[in-house]
Amino acid sequence: MSATIIDGKAFAAKVRAQVADEVSQLKSEHNITPGLAVILVGEDPASEVYVRNKGKQTVEVGMNSYEHKLDASTSEADLLALIDQLNNDPSVHGILCQLPLPDHLNEDLVINSIAPEKDVDGFHISNVGLLGTGQKSMVPCTPLGCLMMLRDHHGSLSGLNAVVVGRSNIVGKPMANLLLRDSCTVTIAHSRTKNIEEVCRAADIVVAAVGRPEMITGDWIGKGATVIDVGINRIPAPERGEGKMRLVGDAHFDSAKEVAGAITPVPGGVGPMTIACLLANTLTACARANNLPEPEGLTA
Ligand code: NDP
Repeated sequence: MSATIIDGKAFAAKVRAQVADEVSQLKSEHNITPGLAVILVGEDPASEVYVRNKGKQTVEVGMNSYEHKLDASTSEADLLALIDQLNNDPSVHGILCQLPLPDHLNEDLVINSIAPEKDVDGFHISNVGLLGTGQKSMVPCTPLGCLMMLRDHHGSLSGLNAVVVGRSNIVGKPMANLLLRDSCTVTIAHSRTKNIEEVCRAADIVVAAVGRPEMITGDWIGKGATVIDVGINRIPAPERGEGKMRLVGDAHFDSAKEVAGAITPVPGGVGPMTIACLLANTLTACARANNLPEPEGLTA
């Protein structure tokens, strides 16, 4: 039997609609408009598209969007000065510095200079520590989106065996911490894991975050398991014409869906949830900054 397809595009639209409702209430009842500042250093074309999408969606849900495009040669001191200014600007509730940064800028230093309560990417060392110790924090957007879809599909995640394939700081590790917080039994697999297929096959939930096109095939998946595919890989698609490319995940969708109980597609799964969760995090940061109740269901 073929798996249920978890529609991340539709889910993200629902999250954005909830955020838009809450923003409209904040405006009418408290005269507050959440604001998200995005900093882009340099001219990486993929980052430019991503930042443009963020800005567009921020405005669509009724928030203020502040874009700061800096030259690739911007000095660390100038970037830190801008972040300091945004940290102290009460109209800015979320700050995101688009990664990767040019080589001459120290990424850790830059991220850790963002005020933790405005760190809507959840990468600041304080937020990493708070998440790791099960305290209230800003949660990285991609793992938060995965968690929302898993909670929606399963209801309670308590007691489920979850395998996260990938141990990066931005996806694998925070994902594992979130699943642990929801009382899953969590295994983190990586490039040195022995018998990785077997490890995955024993799981109720497999989160694939490896960056290797279609690596996780159907024979890695236990019958009825849920597969959350974080991967975004561009591969040649000669069937679409010369030089054409297509997007695939880290899971092999066609074989995995024949065994899994549920699976997220690529595109249209985790991807759209990431920006939706960025907006959700900005709203949460704004509510916390104003001592207002946090929106329901939009945080971990
Ligand atoms: P990283 O490259 O930082 O991490 C990849 C992880 O996968 C590493 O921990 C690595 O292990 C592990 N890995 C690599 N090869 C293997 C293998 N053969 N077997 C087992 N584990 C392996 O990637 P990210 O976490 O940043 O991203 C992962 C994927 O998610 C990418 O496809 C990326 O494009 C996508 N992504 C999607 C987002 C979205 O919005 N949907 C957002 C962010 C990322 P080790 O540590 O041992 O080297």
